[in-house]
Amino acid sequence: MVGRAFVAVCIISAMSACSGASKPERVSCTRKYGLVISDRSHDSLRSAIDKTNLILSQSVSFQLYDALRTPAQSNDRESVPVYLIEVDPPGKHGPAFIPRNERCILLDAQQVADIRIVFSAGAKGATKRLPDEWYIVLTLLHESGHLSNNESGSMREETRFGDSSFNTAQNSVKIREMLADDFAAKQLRDALGDKANPQRAEAALLGALTVSVVNMNFVVYRVETDTSLSRPVQTYFDTGYSHENLELRTLRMSAVLSPERFGPILEQYEESRRRHENTR
Ligand SMILES: [Zn+2]
Repeated sequence: MVGRAFVAVCIISAMSACSGASKPERVSCTRKYGLVISDRSHDSLRSAIDKTNLILSQSVSFQLYDALRTPAQSNDRESVPVYLIEVDPPGKHGPAFIPRNERCILLDAQQVADIRIVFSAGAKGATKRLPDEWYIVLTLLHESGHLSNNESGSMREETRFGDSSFNTAQNSVKIREMLADDFAAKQLRDALGDKANPQRAEAALLGALTVSVVNMNFVVYRVETDTSLSRPVQTYFDTGYSHENLELRTLRMSAVLSPERFGPILEQYEESRRRHENTR
């Protein structure tokens, strides 16, 4: 998940390469880009990393680790560092991103502190009821989807209100984001059915529940705010070219987790968006 300053990060990276300053050894993701590691509490993050690793299936070639700790040496899977960084201004890349051509996840410390607000996307309410770590788990599972697909540099584009085309416009970035969500949902689904590892199944259950809570929160918000049934409310539409709206994203994930129950609702939702796209 992830503006303008990110482009600057890429430019810095390119300058480094052009000046010959890049070194053959692997430089930390933050040192390379001059990013500031946060000194805020890592408790929720550490717990979320542990739970994400528990949920990721054995067939995934990597595990995550808190960059301030030593990576686990126990297996032959790749260890991918997760950094909590201070971003100025906070949120310009979204809650998390992977620098171009890197294998690390950078989390915006302020966005992490406000993670329940991030996941409510303006629709206040029930998202406050779950511990922060579960929203961080969903964020890490999504970024793991990018890593699994060997992607990096995904960014959130500028919001362009007034242009009605972006709601239904498809592009390669949106598709990549959709695939990362799909990866996250499939990891949860796989773990939910892991009878040999009840601890993993339980973690996935709480992750799946978090997806439902985020999605249902939008439903309640819509009922409270949509006083005109003749026109769609804002929450039906995407807010930029790079990501579909969070309501649709969580509904899609629910449809992966339970196709029989959520598949028809997803179809109805998509049909409604198509019907209203020219009336917005
Ligand atoms: Zn993403």
